[in-house]
Amino acid sequence: MRLVQPDSVADATSALGNGSRALAGGTELVPLLRSKLVEADTLVDVRAVVPRGVQGTTIGAGTTLAELEVDPEIPAVLRESCSLAASPQLRSMGTIGGNLLQATRCWYWRLQYPCFLHGGNVCHARQGEHREHAIFGNERCASAHPSDPAAALLALGARLRTDRRDLPLAELYRLPTEDDRSTTTLEPGELILELEVPQPEASTYLKAMDRARWAFPLVGVAAARFADGVRLALAGVAPIPWVLGSPAALDSATPLPGTAYKVDLARPLVRRALEAVA
Ligand SMILES: Cc1cc2nc3c(=O)[nH]c(=O)nc-3n(C[C@H](O)[C@H](O)[C@H](O)COP(=O)(O)OP(=O)(O)OC[C@H]3O[C@@H](n4cnc5c(N)ncnc54)[C@H](O)[C@@H]3O)c2cc1C
Ligand code: SF4
Repeated sequence: MRLVQPDSVADATSALGNGSRALAGGTELVPLLRSKLVEADTLVDVRAVVPRGVQGTTIGAGTTLAELEVDPEIPAVLRESCSLAASPQLRSMGTIGGNLLQATRCWYWRLQYPCFLHGGNVCHARQGEHREHAIFGNERCASAHPSDPAAALLALGARLRTDRRDLPLAELYRLPTEDDRSTTTLEPGELILELEVPQPEASTYLKAMDRARWAFPLVGVAAARFADGVRLALAGVAPIPWVLGSPAALDSATPLPGTAYKVDLARPLVRRALEAVA
């Protein structure tokens, strides 16, 4: 395997595609390479070219979660979602860009079962073990998106700037379909460069997890209040980060037998989050 260390965005993007992958902190990519869930002949180290740090409402995609969790300039919901993610060591290496692009933790997918998301015809989790899986958008793939910061950024109405477009974060994600099993709209070789994050009047992130530290969200609730109202988004409840139109939208959840408890977890978390930002 080759390691390429470009010194411009143009050099990085021309080195990407055709069997190469962008490498930032490597906390997600390296385990995926080791378990052969991702194949690459070249790694393109993008740390020198993807912006890092916070400038007003602009956050470089190369900023680590550890840097974000202590930055007083960024909204509380994003700070809190970062500080509740992973472990201190992972947050010191892991970048916000890489976090938004992490793959599902579904154990069937990680064990390479030939499931729907891998291109097959069935979702093994629907029939099998699925206590950590989805309650929304789970008709074909019932995986639960693991990113806490993605829910925070959705509630904030963040936008992304890549090397080729500017888009709302919500448009980065898509539910997998028969024709296309991917869960993001990122094109091959496209690099996320920056996030534009509006400042809310108040915001918070609440997370239910199996233990108090170093656990993925069973349910994460992000709430952000702006002049025109409060926006809610959830982590750990659908194959992609999920916008919750209102607390009543929880009534339209489609839980599996083993995930019905997540609806009961989400209701009080949503209520508490709304009280916190009122
Ligand atoms: C044990 C463990 C527990 C965790 N717990 C949590 C948790 O509770 N909550 C949570 O939110 N996260 C959790 N994470 C995820 C962790 O936060 C991510 O692994 C990390 O943020 C990924 O960032 P990275 O820079 O290391 O990405 P990398 O591993 O370098 O890259 C990840 C992916 O993103 C691509 N990529 C990276 N940067 C860019 C870019 N700028 N443009 C385009 N593509 C890019 C890479 O090609 C790769 O496909 C956990 C991870 C582990 C291993
Ligand atoms: S939940 Fe998705 S990733 Fe998991 S087995 Fe089903 S189709 Fe595969």
